[in-house]
This record gives sequence, structure tokens and C-alpha cells, in this order.
Amino acid sequence: MTMPAGHLIENTVKGIVVDEKFMEMALEEANTAALEGEVPIGAVLVKKGDIIGSDHNRCIQLNDPTAHAEILAIRKGGQVLGNYRLAGTTLYVTIEPCPMCVGAITQARIEKLIYGASDEKTGAVGSKFRLLHDPHLNHRVEVKGGVLKQECSEILQVFFKGRRL
Ligand SMILES: [Zn+2]
Repeated sequence: MTMPAGHLIENTVKGIVVDEKFMEMALEEANTAALEGEVPIGAVLVKKGDIIGSDHNRCIQLNDPTAHAEILAIRKGGQVLGNYRLAGTTLYVTIEPCPMCVGAITQARIEKLIYGASDEKTGAVGSKFRLLHDPHLNHRVEVKGGVLKQECSEILQVFFKGRRL
């Protein structure tokens, strides 16, 4: 039994490295948002190891309350795939998505959601609402939270602290 167990560990380690790599890219997007004066949240959409969409919050610059990082990354992904269903994709986002974004993730049929820090105020994956776990949803999304959560929450804290000064 040592072989399968070893193989499993190796795959798990590989998975963690891959998740952190894409989360770092989402963090870069979040950084760009901060520089633009937008709430620093970033998202990266991946299919088979390729990035098909990445963006950050742009609500202020676009005068658009729906311009969350997740929504913009999903829109780009749809254009790249030429499809409104984004089957087989993984969405990386620095913060637990809000109810609107969880709705979009479900509509898009995204396979996996990986997020960084939890959002106690509006998180819809489990912190405030448990929308993704609602038994009435006909699409199941695999979820993993806590990837680079320290970095993901720090960038937000620094941003809001700076705005209060
Ligand atoms: Zn959102």
C-alpha cells in the first residue's frame, strides 16, 4: 500500500503548489486593484492549466456595481471559450465570493472554486450565507478555501486602513 499512498501525497503536494501559483496571480490582480483605488480583490479563471480570464474589482472605474473580479474573469472566460457554460474550469479568487458572484459561478457551471480568505460580512460560501451548499441548486461546485489566506486578507486590511487615515 505504500505506492498508492505515496502517489496520493505527491498529487496532493502538486495540487497545493498549483493552487498557490494561481492564487499568487489572483493576488497580483488584487494589487493592481489597490493601485487603481479599487477594493483589492483578484480572480483568475483556469482551464486545463491555462488562464482563460483574470481580472480585479473595477466597480468604481466602470461605474458598475456588478464589476467584481469574479464576474469580469468569468465574462472573459466565456469569450475565450466561445461558450456561456464554463465546464471544467477552476476559479481562483482572493476572497470568499459574495451572493452575486456565487450566483454567477453556478450559472457558469464552474467546476471548482478556490478562494483565499473568508469574508465574514458577505461571504456566500459558508461565512455569512451558505448558497453553494443549498440543496436546491442543481449544479455542484467543488470548493476549497484558505489558500494563501494570510496574504489575501492582509492586502484588504492594509487597503481599508489606508483609506481611514
Ligand atoms: Zn462578488
